[in-house]
Amino acid sequence: MADLLPTELIANWQTLHRVFIQPEDENSKKILVKYMEKILFGLHDFLNKHVGVTEEISLAKLSEAYMDTTINKDPQKKLADVIEDIIHDIAPRAVNVASPYFIGHMTSAIPFFMVHLKAITAALNQNVIKLETSKVLSILEKQVIAKMHRMVYKQNDAFYKAHVQNTQTTLGVFTTGGTTANITALWVARNSVLFPKGDFKSIEENGFFQALKTHDLERMVVLVSKRGHFSLKKAGGLLGLGNQNVIAIDVDKNRQIDLSKLKALIQKLKSDGKTKIVAIVGLAGATETGIIDPLPQLADICEEHKIHFHVDAAWGGPVLLSEKYAHLLEGIERADSVTIDCHKQFYMPMTAGMVYFKDPTALDKIAYYASYVNRRGSVDLGIKTLEGSREASSLILDSALKIMGSRGYALMIEHGIETARIFAGKIRKRPCFQVVTEPVLNIVTYRMVPEAIQKKLASGDQTQHLNEVLDTLNKNIQRIQREAGNSFVSRTQLKAFPSDDHDSVVLRSVIMNPMTTPEILDEILDEQEAIFKKIAGTHFPLTGP
Ligand SMILES: *Cc1c(COP(=O)(O)O)cnc(C)c1O
Repeated sequence: MADLLPTELIANWQTLHRVFIQPEDENSKKILVKYMEKILFGLHDFLNKHVGVTEEISLAKLSEAYMDTTINKDPQKKLADVIEDIIHDIAPRAVNVASPYFIGHMTSAIPFFMVHLKAITAALNQNVIKLETSKVLSILEKQVIAKMHRMVYKQNDAFYKAHVQNTQTTLGVFTTGGTTANITALWVARNSVLFPKGDFKSIEENGFFQALKTHDLERMVVLVSKRGHFSLKKAGGLLGLGNQNVIAIDVDKNRQIDLSKLKALIQKLKSDGKTKIVAIVGLAGATETGIIDPLPQLADICEEHKIHFHVDAAWGGPVLLSEKYAHLLEGIERADSVTIDCHKQFYMPMTAGMVYFKDPTALDKIAYYASYVNRRGSVDLGIKTLEGSREASSLILDSALKIMGSRGYALMIEHGIETARIFAGKIRKRPCFQVVTEPVLNIVTYRMVPEAIQKKLASGDQTQHLNEVLDTLNKNIQRIQREAGNSFVSRTQLKAFPSDDHDSVVLRSVIMNPMTTPEILDEILDEQEAIFKKIAGTHFPLTGP
């Protein structure tokens, strides 16, 4: 067999050595350079030419090609062939999130230089878990964290001078994303509530049972609006609170957390004496709607009751860079902790997030030391992170901030918010659509309500049936548009009117690609109307012309 294989496709010390330090041969190198040039400098054109928004091949069919579960003993392919495969088989069947017609999710085009910065980070391969594997990158991370902390909390020069490179204090940490950032924030909040008392040192040391016994508690809860991200539920499960105890508070007519219901619940929970509120979470903004909770009022409530105030600004945090719209996040500076994602509105490649704390010693509550890696009193960043080994994401963010300036980011943020407003206007002008949530940030939800159904709904009978028809119709429009592969909006379920007692299927658009223009948004609505015309009458007799 062996002599049928090209000599390079054998795993021996010689070929391994060659492949480890450089491409196998000149041809591989040429192909690598050819594609890297396209990827590094022409990604936009390259993807637009090669990738539809979605695959035209069904998932079931696609899965058939990915059934082999064995690992080859000898190499199967050279680097050049693997790259060709990725370009020809994988890329066209991935999702073209960079398309300006892709307005359904919080993942979109990234500036081309992000790919360079990511490649450099990979090439340096620093591990910021500790100084010994990162040196200046640990120092840089502390600096970038102080910059971001300043963006959120606006403390004075003396504060940042005291903390920027302080090895005893920590203003925040990079995480793998918003989920782990939220978990970290609630982890700190939980541990703060269960303070040392008598024999009890901490829940980390003594565990949940002793913690509850010492503090005479039966239940610990987190309060957040029903629009809270599901990572908060995950945190509830993971931290032992139980995800049912991440309590969803109704939203009011503005679709923000209902403050009177929140206050009433706090009173009720306090009166039983056995329940502790670990944290109240404010959204800035909500994943589905972009709505921002009333942060100053939430801060007041938390202050009054001495409750940890966490702001989940995974999505909205970078809005602080816009002088025009930063005021929307007023009150965020009063939060005890704040989550901000890097791979959302900082336009960084997957995956990175951050969490910030007002109190530079807050993260001591989750500090872990190990004599071989994270020594007491060292700069080792891994002492106070959920993650172990981590890439130097701070290098990418810092470089991006230098390349763009806060004004550059602000331009993209402002484009998103203003284009979303234009989009809502366009939707309102079309008689067969209804705006469900007006954009506060750059997210619009809406649904199709054909005029025939509007009339019938107004008459008041068959309401439930009509709502079901509308749900099915909107589901189908979203699916057919996605499958056609020209454009993409997502869908979720929300109350169509704040006074409704049920959720409806709505279309959700997130405008973050600076190449998405009002004309493109018109095309997307045109396409949805065309889909409706095609399926009305037969599939939806009630909606027929
Ligand atoms: C996206 C998001 C998260 C989760 O972030 P990941 O980076 O996906 O883990 C949490 N909260 C909000 C408000 C979000 O929008």
